[in-house]
Amino acid sequence: MPRGYHGLNVPGRVSPRDGRGDDVRQVIIIGSGPAGYTAAIYAARANLEPLLIASSVEAGGELMNTTEVENFPGFPEGIMGPDLMTKMQEQAERFGTEVVYDDVTEVDFSGRVKKVTLGSGAVHEADAVVYATGSAPRKIGIEGEARLSGHGVSYCATCDGFFFRERTIAVVGGGDSAMEEATFLTKFASKVYVIHRRDELRASKIMQDRAFANEKIEFVWNSEVVDILGEDAVTGVVLKDTVDGSTRELPLEGVFVAIGNDPRTHLVHGTLDLTEHGTVWVDGRTSRTSVAGVFAAGDVIDPTYRQAVTAAGSGTVAALDVEHYLASLADAGAPAVDAAQIDALPDTADAAHAAA
Ligand code: NAP
Repeated sequence: MPRGYHGLNVPGRVSPRDGRGDDVRQVIIIGSGPAGYTAAIYAARANLEPLLIASSVEAGGELMNTTEVENFPGFPEGIMGPDLMTKMQEQAERFGTEVVYDDVTEVDFSGRVKKVTLGSGAVHEADAVVYATGSAPRKIGIEGEARLSGHGVSYCATCDGFFFRERTIAVVGGGDSAMEEATFLTKFASKVYVIHRRDELRASKIMQDRAFANEKIEFVWNSEVVDILGEDAVTGVVLKDTVDGSTRELPLEGVFVAIGNDPRTHLVHGTLDLTEHGTVWVDGRTSRTSVAGVFAAGDVIDPTYRQAVTAAGSGTVAALDVEHYLASLADAGAPAVDAAQIDALPDTADAAHAAA
């Protein structure tokens, strides 16, 4: 029996929840950070009945590792990262999002109907997918780093800098992120070491000059952090000289690791086009990827800003693009739509922008 098109809540169409056994969703959202949940809120309010795959252990994304979030609009007193994510989830569920806690192990975006396989073995199908898997801060990979994460070890100066007023801290890294974070952290800390493994920075000249000119910043060259010391809070680091191999301890109270971020693209290598930054390529300011029906949002498309608020905005874009895509499928005469018809679809995002 040919698969029916169960996409839109329009006359003549049926919902995937109508008990007829066909389980093709309108949209699956992969990722449960601000981008994923915001896409879910918008998609659910548009009656798209999204299924959101939230990961088995990392549900909620990077904000689950953050303490107080003070820069998310609408929370003048601040809000704990995990509480913010719980609220986003509740808001998404309130409008009909179904959340599944499992890891996506495989995606198949080759047909019009997209397939998403989970760790449990379950295979879910949908007309559209929003890929919002975020990015992960690169770790140094030493024991004290994991143990003291959230207790003096941080990966986000914007999130945690405020807690280091009048403290001596270090930023690890020699790129733009490290310079930016070090400079930002001098607003709070009394002293900021920048610990870099070489004797020259990777950062752009303007960022370097800004850091060099800052009296609170001291550079520690040719040094690798090989251990982070402290029982319940950071008390220092052990540095290894990359030239002569000697080690020494440097007392301090906080370590900000800024050695780069890796967008979580492992599921879509070879499937979606990536940019030179390793992020998923999207068409201009839209969320459209190189594959029709697959949309991407949040940190996985963003090499620069990587904020909860910008990710949430990006999730909104994805949900609106999905709506237009599904409407275009319906206009094109699904269920008989085929690849040729998809190619012939109007540029939905451009049409939306033109209409705005
Ligand atoms: P990045 O440019 O890749 O720099 C990473 C830095 O961390 C490098 O200095 C690298 O050392 C060091 N590093 C990497 N792995 C390490 C390890 N295991 N142990 C110790 N050090 C390690 O990353 P980024 O600074 O996050 O910047 C990423 C992109 O975003 C760049 O294109 C950057 O220009 C952009 N960005 C722009 C701005 C801005 O313009 N405002 C701000 C932030 C980021 P080596 O130098 O020895 O390789």
